[in-house]
Amino acid sequence: MKLLEYQAKELFDQYGLATPKGVVLSSREGAAEAVAAAGLDYPVVVKAQVQVGGRGKAGGVRFAQNPEELAEIVGALLFSSLKGIQVRQLLVVEKVEMAAEWYLSILLDRDAGMPMVIFSPCGGVDIEETARENPGAILKVPVNPLVGVADYTVQYLVSKSGIGGEHLPALKNLLCGLYRLFTQRDCLLAEINPVAVGKDGTLAAVDGKVDVDDSALQRHADLLAMREAHSEPPLVTQARAFRFLYIPVGAEGRVAVMSNGSGMLMSMIDLLSKKEISVACALDLGGGATKDRIREAVRIVLSTPGVDTLFICIFGGITRCDEVAEGVRLALEEGSGGSKVVVRMEGTNKEVGQEIIGRTPQAVSAGGIVEGVRIVSEMLSASAGRRDAK
Ligand code: GDP
Ligand code: MN
Repeated sequence: MKLLEYQAKELFDQYGLATPKGVVLSSREGAAEAVAAAGLDYPVVVKAQVQVGGRGKAGGVRFAQNPEELAEIVGALLFSSLKGIQVRQLLVVEKVEMAAEWYLSILLDRDAGMPMVIFSPCGGVDIEETARENPGAILKVPVNPLVGVADYTVQYLVSKSGIGGEHLPALKNLLCGLYRLFTQRDCLLAEINPVAVGKDGTLAAVDGKVDVDDSALQRHADLLAMREAHSEPPLVTQARAFRFLYIPVGAEGRVAVMSNGSGMLMSMIDLLSKKEISVACALDLGGGATKDRIREAVRIVLSTPGVDTLFICIFGGITRCDEVAEGVRLALEEGSGGSKVVVRMEGTNKEVGQEIIGRTPQAVSAGGIVEGVRIVSEMLSASAGRRDAK
């Protein structure tokens, strides 16, 4: 789960990392009053809270010299769309004077099997260009989790980057705080870009990105509660209410895929893609779905705009094939706007399941995944042919 900037900064505060004083706004009215009440001094920075990078370049980070400018910017930015996402909150912070902008992050490096620290003295909005054009300015150093951030790690960063030895204590402090956050909060990424370097050498986190491993959220109730503020597609939220994982894949496709496991879903998407069939969304049922839950799952995926064909692959262990088939039948019976469903199943009660599919209009059984893909492909060309004929 990717946190919003202000949420990342709440975590930074907890771990003793300095952040500029700020306030979150979620309505246009009373912006100047809220900023005054929070005790912020002008100039301030108004920042769109959306979980994408490059907000600055997209116009989502703006400066206000006084309350009038603030009101104007809040009016323009709040509830606007930034990189396709609606801005529902703004973070207003005191503008920090920066002598330099650094980049500092820790990410879980799966190749190295360790957390990796990435540091650059050339941080800020052009870090991607720096990575391309001057990769030597970006330093990487793994952290042995049994040792943690060692003095030599920080020594290495300071001497290789040439920032000057006087920065060592502050950088060590920042890195150690960020590392504690990273490990204790089960992060995949904890990033500060830019780290504001003050004239007196103090360091502050002007921006923050934190990505928490979804599988670990259950042990961080406070982080789980932060999800409330996130904008996510409504079908993702609907699916989660039934403990399903709904994954939007592409805006173009007519096909949805569903399975009780993400490995199978990926295979289905791969095989369909090989036939140049785009998938609109995928739904992972998880384990042990009953007919009522399957009915909801089918309803949710078929309500995806543009989707009229659903391909289901089930390995029936605890999930029973007859329950799946019955759920599909119920969903189609309730109305599905002429959508077609291809079901491939193996395992517990397969024959009963196939028999139910056999007498369900709009549904067909497939003997295997490859056959299922072929049927989907034929259905698409048949209905495309009909469209052309009209
Ligand atoms: P991003 O574009 O989504 O990464 O948003 P940032 O919060 O990193 O802001 C983009 C850029 O705006 C930063 O790299 C800075 O150059 C500038 N900026 C943001 N906040 C401040 C601030 O408080 N003071 C100054 N001087 N520049 C800022
Ligand atoms: Mn940034």
